[in-house]
Amino acid sequence: MNTKEYIAMEEKFGAHNYHPLDVVIEKAEGVWVYDVDGKKYLDCLSAYSAVNQGHVHPEILNALLEQVKKVTLTSRAFRNDQLPLLYKELSEMTGYEMSLPMNSGAEAVETALKLARKWAYRVKGVPRHQAEIIVADGNFHGRTISIITFSSEALYRDDFGPFTPGFVTVKYGDASAVEKAIKPNTAAVMLEPIQGEAGVIIPPDGYLKQVADICKKNNVLFIADEIQTGLARTGKLFACEYEDVRADIVIVGKALSGGFYPVSAVLADKPILGLFTPGEHGSTFGGNPLGAAVARASLKVIRNEKLVERSRQLGEYLMEQLSEIPSPHVKEVRGKGLLIGVELKPQAGGARRFCEAMQEKGILAKETHDHVIRFAPPLVIDKETIDWALPSIREVLNMK
Ligand SMILES: *Cc1c(COP(=O)(O)O)cnc(C)c1O
Repeated sequence: MNTKEYIAMEEKFGAHNYHPLDVVIEKAEGVWVYDVDGKKYLDCLSAYSAVNQGHVHPEILNALLEQVKKVTLTSRAFRNDQLPLLYKELSEMTGYEMSLPMNSGAEAVETALKLARKWAYRVKGVPRHQAEIIVADGNFHGRTISIITFSSEALYRDDFGPFTPGFVTVKYGDASAVEKAIKPNTAAVMLEPIQGEAGVIIPPDGYLKQVADICKKNNVLFIADEIQTGLARTGKLFACEYEDVRADIVIVGKALSGGFYPVSAVLADKPILGLFTPGEHGSTFGGNPLGAAVARASLKVIRNEKLVERSRQLGEYLMEQLSEIPSPHVKEVRGKGLLIGVELKPQAGGARRFCEAMQEKGILAKETHDHVIRFAPPLVIDKETIDWALPSIREVLNMK
C-alpha cells in the first residue's frame, strides 16, 4: 500500500479525533523516522516528548525483549520482580520517597487529584467532598471528563459535560491570582511548569517559586504536572528545578517509557503517597513487569547518556540559532532546553503550512494551537544534525 491508501483507510475506518500530517511512518531509529515510501525525516516532536531517549533505543528495546519472554502482566493481585526495582530507582533518581505507577498521563493526573483530595480530608481536615483544586487557564492535563472539566479550550470541553465539581481556574503566570483563589477548603494547586500544549508558554521568572511558597504558607499541596517537561526535556530532570521548587506531588509519564509502552507515575513522599490504602485506587496494567522493566531501562538511558546536560546545551544552541533567523513571520522564539516554541505573527497564515513545508524538506514538527511551531527533537540529537536542519528551517521561516 502507498501513503494515499493508508491515509484513505485510516480516514474511512478510524475516528477523526486527530489532524495528523500526511506522513505514514513505518520505522524509526534515534532522531530519524522513515515513511512507507522510504523518505527519511528528522523528528522534531518526539511524540510530544515521549521519545526523549530517541526512537527504538537499543537498550530499552533489549530490556523489553528480555522481559517480554519472562512475564508481562501479573496484575497487582500478585507481586512481580520488576516493580520494586522501578520504585527504588525512581526514588533514587528523583528524591521522592514513594511512587505510584499508572499507564497514561491522564490516569496519573487523575491519581494525583484523588491523592490531593484524600490528603485534604485525612490530613488537612477539609470537610468531606468539599475539597477544591486550583488549576491554571491554558492548561493541558489530559482528556478524561474530570480533567477536561478544567480545560479552558472550548474544543476540548464544550461537547462533553456535565463536568466534575471542585476545580477553580486562575490566570497562568500570576502568583497573586493563586493566593487570592486559596480558601480553607483548597487541597492543591496543580500546574505545568511550562505549558507545552498551550504553545510552550513559559511563566514569568519566580512564578513557580512564589506559588510553591504560597502553597506552603497556606497548607496547600503543590502538584507539578511534569509529564511533558520532566525527565530531561527542559534541561533539568524536572522543570521545577529552575526555580529550586520541590513540588509536593510530581506527575511523570511520556518519556518514562522512552516511547515503548504507556507508563506514568505519581511521585511524592510518604506522608502524602502513604495515604492510599489497599483497594482505594488501582489499575490492571499499572505497575506491570513489562512496563516496569521498560521504565527502568528508560531512566537508565536518561542517566547514562546525560540527557539532562545534552538537552540544556543543545537546547541553548538551537534556541540561539532559531532566534537569529531573520524572518518576517516570527514573533518570538522561546523555550527551555530542547522544548522550544516558535510563535508566528497573526498574519503569517498559521503554523500548519510551515510544518507542511518542513515536512517536504524532511523535518517533522507539529503546530501547537494555530500559530506556534514546537521544536522538541529527541534529546539524543547532536549538533551536526541540528546544523543539518537549520538551513531548511531558515528557508521555511522565510517563505511567502
Ligand atoms: C501529554 C500530557 C498529559 C496527558 O498524557 P496522556 O498520556 O496523553 O494521557 C498530561 N499532562 C501534560 C502536561 C501532557 O503534556
